[in-house]
Amino acid sequence: MSDNVMHDSPTEFLHEVTQTTGVCAAQSVIPREDDYLCACSCGQWQTSAPTRQEGLRLARLHTASE
Ligand SMILES: [Zn+2]
Repeated sequence: MSDNVMHDSPTEFLHEVTQTTGVCAAQSVIPREDDYLCACSCGQWQTSAPTRQEGLRLARLHTASE
């Protein structure tokens, strides 16, 4: 019999990282050719807006709904 001990499994660590990055800590509004790409650090929100101001407004709405 071989002792197949699974220690220092990386899955646990990855799970922790996912939880940390799943927070709405920062939103970004990135200018593109025709519009603005809006994204959140939680990784679960991404949209486009016609103006930077609209993008910031949508970002504020997203964080307010959390
Ligand atoms: Zn978010």
